[in-house]
Amino acid sequence: SAKAAGSNQWAFFKPQMTERAAVRLRTEASLHDALENNEFLLHFQPKLDLKSGEVVGCEALIRWQKEGRLISPASFIPVAEETGIIIPIGRWVIEQSCKIIQEWKVKYNLSMPIAINVSSQQFQDASLVPDIKQAALRYQIAPELLEIEITETSLMNDIESAIIKLNQLKSAGFGIAVDDFGTGYSSLSYLRRLPISTMKIDRGFVSDLPGDSAIASTILMLGKQLKLSIVAEGIENEQQLEWLQKRGCEIGQGFYFSKPLAIDSFEAKYLVPNHIAIETSS
Ligand code: C2E
Ligand code: MG
Ligand code: MG
Ligand code: MG
Repeated sequence: SAKAAGSNQWAFFKPQMTERAAVRLRTEASLHDALENNEFLLHFQPKLDLKSGEVVGCEALIRWQKEGRLISPASFIPVAEETGIIIPIGRWVIEQSCKIIQEWKVKYNLSMPIAINVSSQQFQDASLVPDIKQAALRYQIAPELLEIEITETSLMNDIESAIIKLNQLKSAGFGIAVDDFGTGYSSLSYLRRLPISTMKIDRGFVSDLPGDSAIASTILMLGKQLKLSIVAEGIENEQQLEWLQKRGCEIGQGFYFSKPLAIDSFEAKYLVPNHIAIETSS
């Protein structure tokens, strides 16, 4: 046992591996604590109809409130994936998003779709589909209001089982988007077999606009051919917006419109009814 090995238990590890393993263990332990202590929260970034400027939905993006600081998902989702703790964290995201869809319905009498991110491990887990269905049922939300974002790479890992799972989600009514499209390796013939509703152009290709537009153009054409709705991620300026509008890209999100916001700010900015209109009409 580790105890019997005493102080020599790390003898076979190189120092930097010990360090890495230790960091991983510490992070895993604190992610467990974070779940128990409710240290995760969701921020929301609006998705806009690029023609009308109307907010048509939002993306939920996880944050970790740790000792007064907000930690970005880029720094803990990879560890959560490696250690498997992504499963309960992902379950929390599903649960929380369904709950918020219901609360917004009650508070503002509106149906605001929320897109959630599902990582590779989570997508492979057998409990994903039942978890999503049960949460939607528990909060009595219309399944169309929950959209599942999965990266191209996760889908192509095991294409046959991906098709089965996506069909289960689709037939239950949930929306399905391929996230970060263009960054992974995907086979176009398989893409056609996936029951997806949306492709999100990775922000790397949007940031190349308007100068270097080959990939964005190709994705837009592909989306049109496959009859998919296209969302452009990471729109940061007017030139990018205009380029996308001119080529019929329907939906976009990015700092040009809004950064991901804490829930209170998102509600105040996008969900609270226009009070002036109410006052003047009375
Ligand atoms: P993603 O799903 O592709 O999310 C888009 C990321 O781009 C977000 O970063 C968002 O804040 C950022 N972004 C949006 N517009 C702009 C822009 O105009 N300019 C720039 N520079 N960035 C923009 P964030 O929130 O740090 O999330 C990073 C990634 O972490 C996400 O990429 C997603 O893969 C993952 N993630 C976030 N939340 C969750 C979650 O709840 N579960 C899982 N499994 N992964 C998550
Ligand atoms: Mg996403
Ligand atoms: Mg993305
Ligand atoms: Mg990403």
